[in-house]
Parts: sequence; C-alpha cells; structure tokens
Amino acid sequence: MESGTAEKITGTNGSAGNGSGAEPQQIEVHNPATGEPIEAVPVTSPEEVAATVARVRANQADWEAMGIEGRYHWLGKLRDWILDNQERILDTMQRETGKVRADASNEPVYLADIINFYGTRAAKFIGEEAVRPHSPLLASKKLRVQYRPHPVVGIISPWNFPLILSIGDAIPALQAGAAVVIKPSEFTPLGLAEIVDAWKHEIGGPDVFDVVQGVGETGGALVDNVDFIQFTGSDRTGRKVMARAAETLTPVSLELGGKDPMIVLADADLDRAANAAAWGGMMNSGQICMSVERIYVEEPAYDRFVAKLTAEVGKLRQGPDATGHDAEVGAMTSPNQIGIVEDHVDDALAAGARALTGGKRVDSPGDYFEPTVLVDVDHSMKVMSEETFGPVVGVMKVRDAEEALKLANDSRYGLSGSVFGEKQRAEQVARRVECGAVNVNDVLVNYFASDVPMGGWKESGIGYRHGEPGIKKFCRTESVVITRFAGKREPTWYPYTRSRRGLVGRIAQAFNARDLKRRLGRRG
Ligand code: NAD
Repeated sequence: MESGTAEKITGTNGSAGNGSGAEPQQIEVHNPATGEPIEAVPVTSPEEVAATVARVRANQADWEAMGIEGRYHWLGKLRDWILDNQERILDTMQRETGKVRADASNEPVYLADIINFYGTRAAKFIGEEAVRPHSPLLASKKLRVQYRPHPVVGIISPWNFPLILSIGDAIPALQAGAAVVIKPSEFTPLGLAEIVDAWKHEIGGPDVFDVVQGVGETGGALVDNVDFIQFTGSDRTGRKVMARAAETLTPVSLELGGKDPMIVLADADLDRAANAAAWGGMMNSGQICMSVERIYVEEPAYDRFVAKLTAEVGKLRQGPDATGHDAEVGAMTSPNQIGIVEDHVDDALAAGARALTGGKRVDSPGDYFEPTVLVDVDHSMKVMSEETFGPVVGVMKVRDAEEALKLANDSRYGLSGSVFGEKQRAEQVARRVECGAVNVNDVLVNYFASDVPMGGWKESGIGYRHGEPGIKKFCRTESVVITRFAGKREPTWYPYTRSRRGLVGRIAQAFNARDLKRRLGRRG
C-alpha cells in the first residue's frame, strides 16, 4: 500500500498509508455497488492503538482464568447474537462490499460454525498434555505441557471477507485465552465495528475484544503493541508487516495471496467441472484468495469443457442485489482492484488472448467487471502469473496430466488448487499440486472443512488457520517438569566424582546403545 497523504481515505481514491508520511484522519466508506458514500469512520491514532491494547491487556488474565468452558460460554453468546442478527449483518456487509446477498450470507454462518468448532475442541487441541519421559534418567519426573495464550493478538484483515477473515481468526484466539484487537480493511470497517460494539454493549462480553480503524499507520502501531500478529492480505503488505514485527520479535501468521490452478482431466465429469470452475472463479466476484484463476484441461476434453464453462459464465446475472437473490455476481469491493483486473485482461488481450465471454469493465455507477473467460492464454501474461483477484479465468489446453502439473506448479504462489477427473487418478494428480490445500472434484470447499489446516506454501503465507494449528498458533508452549521424588542432590549435580559421573555415564550408555555389547559398556 502506498502512503496516504489525503485527509480522508475514500473508497474511490483508495489511498492507503504505509506508516510513513501524513495519514488520513477519517475513512470515508463507499458502497461499491452504487459508488455512493455511506459513512465516515475516524482513524485510530497510534497513541489510541497503544491505549486500546493496554486496556484489553489489563483484562486478559481474568479472561484466561475463565478456562475453556468459561470462554466458550461468552463466545456462544456471540454466536447467538450473530445468528439472531443475520439480516442486519448482511445489510451492512452488502452496503460496504457490494456483494450479492448469497455471497454475503456465507459469513455469519461460518462464524457460528467456527465458534462451535473451537469451543468444543479447544480442550483437545490446547488442553494440558501429559508426556511420558523418554529416558530412565528422567524417571523421577512428571512431564506436562500447557498452552498459554499470547496475551494480546492483533489481527489485520482484508476487505474481501470482512468478517470471516477478522472475527473468524479472533474466535480461536479468544477461545485460547488471548485478548484481541482487530484492524479491518479501510474499505470495509463498518460490519466488524458493529459486531464488536454488540459484544461490548448488547452481549456485555468481557473487555478483551476491540477494533481500531485506519490504514498503514494504525496497522503498524498494532504490530508494535501486540504479542502476536495474524495478518491476511496481499503478500506485498505481508512482507512489510513481517519486517515491522521483526523489530519487536513479534511472531506472525501470514495468510497471503494465491493464483489457484484447476486441473481438468479428460475423464472428468465435464458438467460438474465447468460448473465448479464458474462458481470457483466468479464467486464473490473472484475476490477470494482461493479463487480458481488458472485452468488446465487435457486435450481430449478441452473443447467440450470450454464450451460448457463459457455457457455457464455467460448466463450469470450481475449487478446490485438486495435481499432477493437477483444476481450472482456483485461489485468489486476495492476500487484499486478493478483497475488491476482490467490491466490483466487488457494485457492478455493485447498479447493474443480471446475473451469468449466478458472482458471489460461494466459501464455503470458501481465497480463491476464482467464475468470473463479467456482462452489462448499463456504464462507470459499477467492473467496467468499474477494474482488477478477478479471474475476472470484463463483456460489452457494441455497434452496430459504431467504438463498440467508442471504448469499448475509454475507459480510463486501455493495457496490451494483443485483437480477434476476419475476419482483415483484425480487424487493421485491432486497430491502432486504444490499448495497448502487441494480439492478433488470440488472447489473452495476445504475452507469450510475447518477440521483440516489451511495455509499457503511458497509466497502464499506462513502458518495455518483451522484445525489444531489454527488455535495452537495463538498459544505459547510452557513445559512443566515436576520432580515427583528426590534426594538431597541429583547424580548430575556437584560434586563431580568418578563414581557419581560413572553411574550417570553407565545408565546413559546402556540406554543409548542399540546393541548388547555397547549396552554393557564395551566397544563394538
Ligand atoms: P492489503 O495487503 O492491501 O491490505 C490488508 C490489510 O493490511 C488492510 O487492513 C490494510 O489496511 C493493512 N495495511 C496496509 N498497509 C499496512 C502496513 N504498512 N502495515 C500494517 N497493515 C497495513 O490486502 P487487501 O487488498 O485488503 O486484500 C486482498 C489480498 O488479500 C489479496 O492478495 C488476497 O489474496 C489476500 N487474501 C488472502 C487470504 C488468505 O487466507 N490467504 C484471504 C483473503 C485475502
């Protein structure tokens, strides 16, 4: 993000600070579906960020002391509030993101599910562990491992899923016993603020959960003050966050960009593959880190697959949507992003690609880009090598699965991917895709399988969300070594004498040797 110099950040100029230079005083939020301003939100200064973190830090010990069940009790109240207020949440979300109702409605249900997921599994994932000592020299010890939270977790989140990617990470952090402060994207600050406000005033939750607003300066101040940073956003900003966190040796978990491949084998159910490609590529207007962006199709299936995909994408309804499910594809949430999408498509078309459907920005008051299928593309084009993050897929014909894999893995990203084909063959190919999660005969679904970890390989990130790692990362490991019985001194302590050291040496030799001769202290 470039440094903002304006007094206001507006949804249409997209200015955003990087922590240097004059930062804006307030954020003006726009509705991307109409271009109209909605509301202005005051920016939180670095001093206010420090004060907010200090305040929740002061309450964190009591929160931790409540234990897993006590915290689940409060998070359960948050779940109930979210379920009871879905319509209100969706209205705000649609206003600030331009999403269609169906896409927006994924977020509250995800949050409710993840509260229950971690609430009922936290004891298993981060409960105290009893460990048997591995050596007879430790026979008098009781070994325990306890997982203690990083006291304050800071979350910096993007605009494409304003709640899933902020509160969705706050939930396991809170369940682990941490206090949490979130800095949402400057493009979508409203929905999150509403829920945090409800936590404080309607639910009456403990004062361990707050939000700060702003761009680079606010984000940087959060990094400086917390004990752990969970960042979701572009790899470009992720590098800055990691560099800043290095100054205070603050651990980070980074969920970054993707350029997800789909491989379609000749023996795939081509109707299912084409429908999946259309949904996986266009859902949320393609603004998903795990969107299908590149498709490689085995030669015998190529023509039929492309025809089916083009027909499916060509009939998608696009435009502003209220509650009636009148459209499938909504607006581009960030005004910067529609420019990037346009640039990638124009670059491809200029280099010989063809748009079988779509291909340009929609001439309307909102920020819309037509759902687009490109063919005759190759990896020299931005649309096949850089993250497009819009409703665009590029399709390439490949000789066989080997060529498909070579191309699929030819990327600096490695977030997720999918393979369509006969079950066994598709699974074999899927296991060779270089990424953090791969779906066989489905797309995107791994995100909702919170049982398994999700995280990026290569430049798509560091760390995981979901599953056991998704809560354990918010904890520090404390090993507790308890002496069960003991004399006045241990054989390893002073004084060092031949007989005491000899005894220790003989036990260690007997334990470490793997053959009888050596166990008895002889050479092999
Ligand atoms: P972004 O990197 O521009 O911004 C992300 C967040 O960082 C925002 O809150 C922003 O205000 C903040 N920020 C900007 N400069 C900062 C700085 N110097 N210090 C601290 N914070 C700073 O990303 P975006 O445009 O909001 O989101 C789109 C990107 O997010 C895409 O690359 C997408 O792939 C990625 N993403 C990844 C995942 C995942 O789980 N891997 C999920 C969703 C989105």
